[in-house]
Amino acid sequence: MKLKILGSGREVGRSAILLIHDNCKISLDFGVKLQPEPPSFPIIPKEIDGIIVTHSHLDHSGAIPLLPNVNCYMSDMTKKLTKLLLIDFVKVARINNYHIGFSKKDVKLALSNSLIVEKDFIIKDVACKFFDAGHIPGSKSILLNVQGKNIFYTGDIKLEKQNLIDGCKLPKEEIDILIIESTYGDRDHNERSKEEDRFKAEIDETLNQNGIVLLPAFAVGRAQELLLILKDYIDYIAIDGMAKDATKIIMNYNLKSSTLLKKIFKRIKKVNTKKERERIIRKGSRIIITTSGMLNGGPAVYYIKKIYKRKDCKILFTGFQVEGTPGKYLLDTGIFRNEDLELHVNCPIARFDFSSHAGRSELFKIIEKLNPKNIICVHGDHCNEFAKDIEKKFGIKTFSPSNNEILEF
Ligand SMILES: [Zn+2]
Ligand SMILES: [Zn+2]
Repeated sequence: MKLKILGSGREVGRSAILLIHDNCKISLDFGVKLQPEPPSFPIIPKEIDGIIVTHSHLDHSGAIPLLPNVNCYMSDMTKKLTKLLLIDFVKVARINNYHIGFSKKDVKLALSNSLIVEKDFIIKDVACKFFDAGHIPGSKSILLNVQGKNIFYTGDIKLEKQNLIDGCKLPKEEIDILIIESTYGDRDHNERSKEEDRFKAEIDETLNQNGIVLLPAFAVGRAQELLLILKDYIDYIAIDGMAKDATKIIMNYNLKSSTLLKKIFKRIKKVNTKKERERIIRKGSRIIITTSGMLNGGPAVYYIKKIYKRKDCKILFTGFQVEGTPGKYLLDTGIFRNEDLELHVNCPIARFDFSSHAGRSELFKIIEKLNPKNIICVHGDHCNEFAKDIEKKFGIKTFSPSNNEILEF
């Protein structure tokens, strides 16, 4: 059996790992790398029997429409969220003049060829089983049995529970090969409850000044997590952009906090038009949750243009900012810059760590629990160092392959 790294080898983005055995080829995820622009895709395999998608984030699902006739296997919620994100991706690509090689029609065709699976399924003679990954709503890890060998691919994973979903579930089976994400292989997260307190203190200060708190957020996962963290601020919250559509999808599934999420969503202000946006800015004393999370576009940019001079307002980041994005640049320099404008931002800016990825200690705990025979580190900027640390700590043979590399077991 062979594993070929099509993407996410020593990088974050375009997750795609090809399992090759006898006449069977299955890709574990098939994502895109959005940064640096223009987006880049994984190596495209010639013949392939199926794609298993762990979750809707585009770095795991964004290349599916390049193979619109291949069967994709994913959870029901992942299918709905993937559709939302892929259609937006096509729209953004058109606005930015990127050639991504597929259209809205391909997105629809690819998804019509996708099979909804929630737990066990079989592709040719490979037995597959989903486990909750604890990363975002609908996210799964995959256990595959190939010729009696067990492979466990984490996808993006989190061990500790979040407000919206519980932490990951791990298999009891003996694992031969663990393919593990390594996003935070080099560091731990700040303590969550302290981080939430610090976040609310910043918000209180701004609301007391009748200012606006802008929370740029990823549509899927983070926006809903923020709504739950801010459940005591319900009358101050407005939600705008794709975060709104994603929440509408997510709250209808049976999650740990869906009842509360529904209640919150019903009461908060939903912003749809330019007029409503203007009114919110005029009125003040508002918390605005909106896309895009890294300020690449979306209503977030409109709000920045309106508040950047005001010291009584605030921009609070709660998600990872990738190098090269306007969000990262603003955090580093205090300047908001995109193709059209450059603004010296006067309002205070801060960053909070509400990550939905396992931190270094959580990753170690996952490895300890699974105690696999071999480990492959992917989806990280420091996979090589992390692999060395794992070998030293656990004495388990660990690989950190680059893209296009093939490992044989
Ligand atoms: Zn993800
Ligand atoms: Zn990812």
